[in-house]
Amino acid sequence: MDMRADLLIVGAGMVGSALALALQNSGLEVLLLDGSPLSVKPFDAQSPFEPRVSALSAASQRILERLGVWEGVVKRRCSPYSDMQVWDGSGTGQIHFSAASVHAQALGHIVENRVVQDALLERLHDCDLGLLANARLEQMRRSGDDWLLTLADGRTLRAPLVIAADGANSAVRRLTGVATREWDYLHHAIVTSVRSSLAHQMTAWQRFTDQGPLAFLPLERDGQQDWCSIVWSTTPTEAERLMALDDQGFCHELERAFEGRLGTVLSADPRLCVPLRQRHAKRYVAEGLALIGDAAHTIHPLAGQGVNLGFLDAAVLAEVLLQAASRGERLADVKVLSRYERRRMPHNLALMAAMEGFERLFQADPLPLRWLRNTGLKVVDQMPEAKALFVRQALGLSGDLPELAKA
Ligand SMILES: Cc1cc2nc3c(=O)[nH]c(=O)nc-3n(C[C@H](O)[C@H](O)[C@H](O)COP(=O)(O)OP(=O)(O)OC[C@H]3O[C@@H](n4cnc5c(N)ncnc54)[C@H](O)[C@@H]3O)c2cc1C
Repeated sequence: MDMRADLLIVGAGMVGSALALALQNSGLEVLLLDGSPLSVKPFDAQSPFEPRVSALSAASQRILERLGVWEGVVKRRCSPYSDMQVWDGSGTGQIHFSAASVHAQALGHIVENRVVQDALLERLHDCDLGLLANARLEQMRRSGDDWLLTLADGRTLRAPLVIAADGANSAVRRLTGVATREWDYLHHAIVTSVRSSLAHQMTAWQRFTDQGPLAFLPLERDGQQDWCSIVWSTTPTEAERLMALDDQGFCHELERAFEGRLGTVLSADPRLCVPLRQRHAKRYVAEGLALIGDAAHTIHPLAGQGVNLGFLDAAVLAEVLLQAASRGERLADVKVLSRYERRRMPHNLALMAAMEGFERLFQADPLPLRWLRNTGLKVVDQMPEAKALFVRQALGLSGDLPELAKA
């Protein structure tokens, strides 16, 4: 027999899990399913850093605090950063942002994705939300007013409303035929953690090289400040070459590409190479369907914003659904769901466009563009008001914020 719910969330990654928690006291029957086992690993504070990390904004922190998850993040491991240094590797332009400029303690926190995920799962296991592990979605189709979902093991699920939170290669998006606009950045990102001879000073460093941005994001373990997570975006050929180097050769190249700003790169953990692709769903909603997080949009990691946008999607969608439920409206109605799309799509698109423009400007070789970006960086660096505006934006403190993210 089919399992039934008022609302099915497909994908218990960071974004789907946050949405489920935001709906926990709604009176709705929510079922959250994921193809993975959804088990929480015991945390060892001495364990190596996970290669995938996120730069969580203040808005994301607030959402996680209100969902009772932030505590679980802090008790594991997270690294606040108070400053950001950005510079042009082929010029003299540079810019410095600081939390102090807006009287904040931190610009954000660098957190391993596994840590956020486990803190969310721990909370989910503690509440009485329906959680379905090892449940890989394979098919879905309309059946009357419901969606009928078939899992890989043959189980079937039924609900009038399905939320796609199943990541960049969303099965829900594919099975329901939601169109996307997508393009390759023709870049790959190498991610890993490295130890350097100089302390990172709680600063996120970003150097724009001719081949793409290179970020050193500060990590902290036992009060030590000599580890950073790196995201090195470069051409596929160069990425292949860098991936083939032995550890010593890789550390040497990395130190050179980073102009030795943190001294010698002493060691590197195993490397991951991820092809970068920007993707944006043309619609986030349809009758009985909404897309959130990477299922709706993937953005260049240069922004460090991917999961921050996803948490805001989850918080706004929860707000829209809770308001509609309190008014007795039908939640699967596309008119209700469109309220979520209207609030989130312009914000996500604006950020994606800004990142793309930024990326193009820094990839550009013609002399006038190089001059423009060098001069631009220097000029803006002398404009405290403009910088404070940028910092507020990066903290996620401006724009149409959901209640869960408000101060
Ligand atoms: C190199 C790199 C660096 C990044 N750095 C940052 C950063 O600094 N800051 C930041 O905010 N973001 C960053 N991001 C982006 C960030 O990692 C993503 O935005 C985020 O993980 C998306 O979360 P999600 O929950 O939407 O999707 P995912 O994390 O992809 O979760 C999807 C879930 O759906 C499940 N699933 C998938 N298919 C199915 C199916 N058929 N059936 C059932 N379950 C399914 C999966 O098991 C998974 O649990 C980075 C990304 C990359 C590639």
